Amino acid sequence: MISSALKINMDASPKTEVEYLIVGQGLAGSLLGWRLLQQGKSILIVDPCLEQTTSRTAAGLINPVTGKRLVKTVNVEQYLPAAKLLYDELGCFFGEIFLHEKRQVKIFKSEGEIAQWEKRRNRPDYAPFLGESIHSEDRDYLKEDSLGGFEQKQCGYLDTVSLLDRLRAFFVEQGCFINSEVDLDELKIAEQAVQWLDCSIDKVVFCDGYQLQSNRWFSWLPLQPVQGEIFTLETDQQLPKEIVQFGKWLLPLSDGQFKLGATWQWSPLDEQPTEKAEVELLDACKEQFPKLKNARLIEKKVGIRPGTRDRQPFIGSHPHQPRLMVFNGFGSKGSLMIPWYSALFSRHLTKGDNLPETVDIKRHADGCPLS
Ligand SMILES: Cc1cc2nc3c(=O)[nH]c(=O)nc-3n(C[C@H](O)[C@H](O)[C@H](O)COP(=O)(O)OP(=O)(O)OC[C@H]3O[C@@H](n4cnc5c(N)ncnc54)[C@H](O)[C@@H]3O)c2cc1C
Repeated sequence: MISSALKINMDASPKTEVEYLIVGQGLAGSLLGWRLLQQGKSILIVDPCLEQTTSRTAAGLINPVTGKRLVKTVNVEQYLPAAKLLYDELGCFFGEIFLHEKRQVKIFKSEGEIAQWEKRRNRPDYAPFLGESIHSEDRDYLKEDSLGGFEQKQCGYLDTVSLLDRLRAFFVEQGCFINSEVDLDELKIAEQAVQWLDCSIDKVVFCDGYQLQSNRWFSWLPLQPVQGEIFTLETDQQLPKEIVQFGKWLLPLSDGQFKLGATWQWSPLDEQPTEKAEVELLDACKEQFPKLKNARLIEKKVGIRPGTRDRQPFIGSHPHQPRLMVFNGFGSKGSLMIPWYSALFSRHLTKGDNLPETVDIKRHADGCPLS
């Protein structure tokens, strides 16, 4: 359902006065911008429109139970319905499907993982997310000596590039998007408002992804950025019909194309593809899917996940500059978490609802310099 407050703006000229300046049009800035427009707020989103960004690199996988230890994401019972609702709402608005619900299989890579699965499968809180066991004879891509695996429920992927393109075009149409980088030296903070060029702003919200680490007002937050690579390949061979997690993952697309990911590199944090990642991804793929050994590599993408030490996002106001705010730190789960937190944060901004302590950046205020 689209809120009646979302009115089409007939005056799309650049704004000189706005309530919120959103710095960054990744998934965080875009979904927050959408929520604020729905509530009738005036916004301006600024982003340099780079071809390769973290949100545009991400495969957008939604996966409630992850890792070798098969851990259920904390609060996934809240995040998932919020994500489905928002992506459906956006799908209806733009007449396009962005969230593709898809079956997923997790293949065991060790006896330890099987032991972990045995523990989890009997827990009622895991039941909505864990499906049937799978044995080597159930799938033609499993070898005879495979340890098998199991089906995962409520999985899928978000087509982030299509969604961000559609939202950008919409923001442009609404006269609330500027293709540029915000030079932080150009933000003039006064008691009454923040001035950026010829625009007067009530609050600035930084949705600047991993670039938060060089943001002069928020670099004290303990960000843990992690670089990652994802490839797109093409094959004439039959692909699995489902997403397969095998230490790495394979996401089948249409026309023989598939995505293969992802790597995790803590340093160096540059945005260039590496030979190491190529070896790591292609070797893992060949070992699990020998028939795909001649697949053609058609695209490599690199991004930097805005991870945090406690795996909780960074949301809230600067301790000494209340006009400056942050909405960031969604790590490797932006597609799942941002819909929920964009609703929560927009209610905080527009209705004064409290932020949970677990995500409020007040929890790190001890690390904030005094000036
Ligand atoms: C390899 C990889 C795989 C991933 N896979 C998944 C996955 O399967 N599922 C999932 O949910 N998540 C995944 N993620 C994580 C997901 O991408 C992030 O959680 C999410 O995209 C973060 O969005 P964001 O808007 O906070 O950051 P970003 O996408 O980094 O957006 C920040 C934006 O701010 C802009 N910006 C920065 N500084 C300025 C400035 N001064 N002025 C103007 N604009 C500025 C940038 O150009 C950028 O467009 C993956 C990430 C990577 C790297």
